[in-house]
Amino acid sequence: MIPAARPIAGGPFATCGRSDCNPGIHPGLRATQRARKRRTNPGPVPRAPSGVLPMRTSPRRRHRCPFPDCPSHKKRHSRIVRHGRYGSRRGSRLRLLCRVCDRTFGARRGTVYYRLRSTRDDFDLAMRLQVEGVTQAAAARSVGISVSTIARWKERAAFHARAFEEEHLEVKDPIELQLDELCARGKGSRDEIWLYSGLEVWSRVWAATHVGRRTKRSTRLFLRSARKTCGNGPEPVLVTTDPYVYYEPELRRAFGPKCVYVQVENLYRRDRILRTESRLVFGARHKYEAAKARLEDGSRPNTSFIERLNLFIRRAISYLQRRTPAPARIPRCLSEAIDVLRCYYNFIRPHSSLRFGKVTRTPAMQAGIFSRPLTFREIFNWVPPPQRDPYTLDFRTRPPTARSGS
Ligand SMILES: [Zn+2]
Repeated sequence: MIPAARPIAGGPFATCGRSDCNPGIHPGLRATQRARKRRTNPGPVPRAPSGVLPMRTSPRRRHRCPFPDCPSHKKRHSRIVRHGRYGSRRGSRLRLLCRVCDRTFGARRGTVYYRLRSTRDDFDLAMRLQVEGVTQAAAARSVGISVSTIARWKERAAFHARAFEEEHLEVKDPIELQLDELCARGKGSRDEIWLYSGLEVWSRVWAATHVGRRTKRSTRLFLRSARKTCGNGPEPVLVTTDPYVYYEPELRRAFGPKCVYVQVENLYRRDRILRTESRLVFGARHKYEAAKARLEDGSRPNTSFIERLNLFIRRAISYLQRRTPAPARIPRCLSEAIDVLRCYYNFIRPHSSLRFGKVTRTPAMQAGIFSRPLTFREIFNWVPPPQRDPYTLDFRTRPPTARSGS
């Protein structure tokens, strides 16, 4: 958190007023000057790390031939051209033609909006309400559709958001990864659900998530996705967690020498943190010292950023609000809500702690992925790679082998 800049009378070499203050050495004064500099200086323009392609302004919207039996179906550069328009209940729509197989299809094919009977604005509004902590029933009343429609839309949007993140989300040079899990339902009972989440602190990218029981297998799946998002940097990443038993073996397995692992334990008294103890679990000492020197908030490992993210998640998902009458009953529903929220958090919502002058960046901007905040419309209009769009595979396009097997 950047402290507010206090005006100092007498210019940058003034003292704080105390008789023993030495300008240039007095820490409070220097901190104030630093804060003022950070506030007014917009900072470096976000750009991709060296050796990486330049940042994109928007997701590339490339149409592919949707018919699996077409030779160009899985090719990146399929020969798709415009082919007039066709009428629908909501007005005319663009028609496209595949020059390879000579078949036509609608331009919305492969997007979230394919065969949608409501407007795209209604769909986007429903998803926006979902990520602002509004319950499904309240969102249905606001948009004027049924609850089951909202649930179905959320399933679509979540599938799409997951594919979008898999395609785009990667932190090239991660510094610190904080991991934590929160109990979504039924603490202590057999049917409890846990939500694992991981935050890359420097860029504030919500790097990984997993919904499931608190087991070794869940930990493994979660860490595998964390490794995929930020495990390929040049320096080992500092990983901090609470002392949960399965983190150590699974971190060794997923990251190995690519991480330095520190366990942080908070000691509480009367619901307040009394003190924090950290312990280096594995990783060479010199790597640990090097990783600590790169930390943003001093040299003490902590889990405060991921705790803050947990609060954001609790406020943004109606299932997870405290004392809610409607907790998540099915883990899949919670998982879908989390996928949409994560996409919103990483790509759409400017993060207040990433403010540089007049620009407030999203975590994806800070990580050098996109150069501006995206919108739900852009993400939902993106067409996923061909193997990941089963909802567009209706009975007319499904290959005969799949039909005979079911
Ligand atoms: Zn084709």
